[in-house]
This record gives sequence, C-alpha cells and structure tokens, in this order.
Amino acid sequence: MASVEQQGAEAAAVAQGAVTAIPVVNPATGEVVATVPRAGADEVREIVERARRVQPGWEALGFQERGRILLRAQKWVIDQRERIIDAIVSETGKTYEDALAAEVAYAAHALGFWARSAPRYLADERVRSSSMLVKGRRLAVRWRPLGVVGVIGPWNYPLTNSFGDCIPALAAGNAVVLKPSEITPLTSLVMRECMEACGLPPDVFAVATGAADTGRAVVDEVDMVMFTGSTRTGRQVAIRAAERLIPCSLELGGKDPMIVLRDADLERAANVAVFYAMQNGGQTCIAVERVYVEAPVHDEFVAKVRDKVVALRQGPSGGPGTAEVGAVTFPPQLDVIERQVADAIAKGARVLVGGRRREGSGMFFEPTVIDDATQEMAVMTEETFGPTLPIMKVRDAEEAIRLANDSIYGLGGSVFTKDLARGEAIARRLRSGAVCVNDAAINYVALELPMGGAKQSGLGQRHGAGGIRKYCEPQTIVVSRGFPRRDMHMFPYTARGTKRVVAVLKLLYGRGRRR
Ligand code: NDP
Repeated sequence: MASVEQQGAEAAAVAQGAVTAIPVVNPATGEVVATVPRAGADEVREIVERARRVQPGWEALGFQERGRILLRAQKWVIDQRERIIDAIVSETGKTYEDALAAEVAYAAHALGFWARSAPRYLADERVRSSSMLVKGRRLAVRWRPLGVVGVIGPWNYPLTNSFGDCIPALAAGNAVVLKPSEITPLTSLVMRECMEACGLPPDVFAVATGAADTGRAVVDEVDMVMFTGSTRTGRQVAIRAAERLIPCSLELGGKDPMIVLRDADLERAANVAVFYAMQNGGQTCIAVERVYVEAPVHDEFVAKVRDKVVALRQGPSGGPGTAEVGAVTFPPQLDVIERQVADAIAKGARVLVGGRRREGSGMFFEPTVIDDATQEMAVMTEETFGPTLPIMKVRDAEEAIRLANDSIYGLGGSVFTKDLARGEAIARRLRSGAVCVNDAAINYVALELPMGGAKQSGLGQRHGAGGIRKYCEPQTIVVSRGFPRRDMHMFPYTARGTKRVVAVLKLLYGRGRRR
C-alpha cells in the first residue's frame, strides 16, 4: 500500500505533468485499482475537434430524440448501479450509501429531469415589447447550444459533480468533453460506456482523463466551461476563459453555517448537523461546516451531537449498511483537516469526539466534534472538507447572523427554529446561494431550484432554467411583416417628420406619470 506521503507526492507529480499514466488509488485500502492515461494538449485538441464535427448532428436530432437517449441512460444507471457504485467506492473510499444516495440516485433523477425539462426551459420565447417602434413585428428569443462544452469536475462527487453537469449540456444539444479529477476518473469512464450503450452518437460525449494540465487544455479548446472545484482553481479557470472570451460557470468552495435558535427542535437540529457534517466524510461543498448555537440551548445541543457522532461507524465500505463515514479521498486533505483541528485546540477549543487521523491502513480522519470554537479559528472560516463539526456558543440570533455572514464563502446555510416566519426572515439575511429552514442542503435534490454560490463560492448556477440556459446563447429574432409607408428609421430626415416624433415622445413620456 502506498503511504499518504507517497500518494501526495504522486498527486503532485501528476499535477506537474511528470507522468503519462495516472494510478487510481482506493483511499480506504491503499490499493491501486486502475491506471488511466493522461491526455496531453494535442490529444485534447483532437477530442474537441471530433466533438465539434459531430455536434451539429446531435443538435439536429432535436429534444425528443436526445431525450430518448437520456431516458435510456437513466434505466442503464439503475440496472448497472452496482457497477457504478463499485467504481465510485473504489476511487473515493466513500461508503456504499454515500455512493448510492448522493450519486447514483442523483444521476438517475437528473437524466430524467433534463430529458423532460430541456424542451420547456429552452423553448422559443415570444416577447411583447413596450416600444412603439416594433409594433406589428414578431419578437422571439431562442436558445441555441454553444457547441462543445468542457466540464471539469472535482474528486468528491465523481458522478454527481462531473457527469451530472454534462447531462443538461447534452440535453441542450451540445457535445461535451468531461475532464474528471485525476484522483477519481473511473466513474466518468463508466458513464462514457453508459452513453455509448444507450445510443449516443460517437464523440458527442468524450472523457479526457488527466490532471491540471489536461484541465487547462480543455479550457483552451472548448466553447464554454462548467467548472466545479476549489475557489483557487476556479479563479484560474475564469482568467483563462476571460482571455478566450468564452463563458464559464463556476461552482466553488463553501463554509456553510448552521444557526440553532433557542426555540429549535434540538433533536432534529442535531440529526441534521451530524448527517450533513459527516455524510460523504464531510467532503461536500454544501456540508454543514460550522454551527452557531444560542447560549440557552448550547449544552443540550452539544450533548445530542456528541452522542450521535460517537455512535458512527467508520471504515472501508463492506457493502450496504456497513459504515456511515468513509475515507478522506484526496491525500493532502488529511493534512488540511489535521492542521485546522490543531489550530482550534491551540486557540482554546475542546475536542469532544475524534480529533485524529486513524492509525492503520487507509486514509481516515475520525468523526470529530469540536466545542467552544471561535471565529478566530480556521475551522470556522476555512473550508475543512472533512468529518468535523465545530460548534460555537452565541449570545443571540443577531450575533449568529453576523458571524454566519463573516465569510468569503456564500454557498448554503441553515436556520433551526420553530418560528417559521422568523426562520425565513433570518434565511433572507444570510448572503448564501441557498438557505434551508429546519433542514440543510436539501435544496440540491430539487432540480427545479437554481443552485449556486454567492461571494467566492461561485459564478452562475446549476439546476433550474439557468442551469441549462448557461449552455446556450440566446438569439433574438425580429420578423417584420406589415411595412409602414414611412418608417421613422428611414432616410431622409424631414422637419415635419421630426416634429411628429417630438409630438409622439411628449405624448408617450412627457406627462410624468405611468402609462
Ligand atoms: P480543484 O480545484 O483542485 O480541482 C477541480 C478540477 O479542476 C480537477 O479536475 C482538477 O484536475 C482541475 N484543475 C486543476 N487545475 C486546473 C486548471 N488550472 N485549469 C483547469 N482545470 C484544473 O478542486 P478539488 O478537486 O480539490 O475539489 C474540491 C473542491 O470542489 C472544494 O473546494 C469543494 O467545495 C468544491 N466543490 C464545489 C461544489 C459546488 O457545487 N459549489 C461541488 C463539489 C465540490 P486534477 O484534480 O486532476 O488536478
């Protein structure tokens, strides 16, 4: 088994382009489970050229035919779920249920959703204008696919946040080149097989495995980039996309706060806090990353959280029902978690459960509860991306709101209270892309809702109308039918004509009241 240091060094060498084949390691066992090629810039260019050639044919098939293929893929995903779960678990070290519920179920739902919703979201829009100058003309907006979309994904959700973002792009009529994380490329390759088996024309969906240099090459060739990953890399992608003047959509990091008010149902709040902090080993962009609890209920909430976390089972997946918390997928992430926990302890926090990386094989950090956290600690301000739950006691709701907003991130958030109106009022004061009252992160499964980040958590959205229109360019169509004898926008200008224009302007806008 490769040590954590070895795996970290291998990841660095891959990122620097020093190797041509990438070993894929199961982080829960340390086993090398596969090796994949690293696509260089020339190969990426060829892949994109092939995709560009076949894209018009794919677009011409229309929504119905494209939808049929996506629905076939939906069935394939359910029929082949064990294979997909095996691939996900083997490259991420996550639990069986994390792979089933947050990845396979998402992909199956999304394939059906976009197959059915694309025609509605991308239907031509008839527009009525208040301008007198276009009276009698037919005005329309249509959504035209951009061409070849590059999707670049992270390692924490190799299905949901990589292939998942390809689905609306394909439904819209684009060809797609997917660049998965070099840590977790296998799931994307299974999905390429899925799409082939379901009748997708060759080259409409391609997977370019590789590391950062492959990602850069994708940005250099495609017509639009959908990027999910860290804020640091997202900024680099945005700069490169700006240089090429191509659109990019960025889904980046988060530090989601949970606020627990004194009238909250503490059992529910504790269950949600523990689930969304520990699910997927805490490696979720919209994980509960920090909790602010009003002083009167702090001790009771913390006791409930501690008891629930102590009961969690951690380890390599042994199939259904064998563990709640899986491995840390990306080797350097263990150091990040360890550093943040050490920083919290040094600044006066108390570790109530866990707090250490686990000895033995595999990369695991113990499910960890930290109490007496303060805003000066990295665990409360930097993305941890590990199975940690730091809790801070606050005086009142105002202090909680101020601290929740005291972040460079703004992805999600949650508020717990029995006073639903007050909960919603507080939700509206949080500067986050989505806020749930008496729940967390659940907005993600409602694909009708836009999901995206405020502040440094991203630009643009996935899901909802915007989640597919971003893969298109709007085109405005104006059709003139009846032709006026004298059009205002025609030469020659005459004094009489101009006088008439002034009279019309006075009539329309000169009376100082709304028409
Ligand atoms: P990274 O930013 O490190 O990498 C993301 C992807 O970008 C990888 O495929 C990576 O390749 C590739 N890449 C790296 N450098 C470049 C570059 N210069 N140009 C183009 N592509 C590049 O993120 P992680 O993989 O570490 O993912 C974790 C992050 O993702 C967390 O911050 C998390 O919050 C965020 N995330 C956000 C979500 C959201 O919806 N907002 C959802 C899921 C995760 P390689 O890995 O092969 O080097």
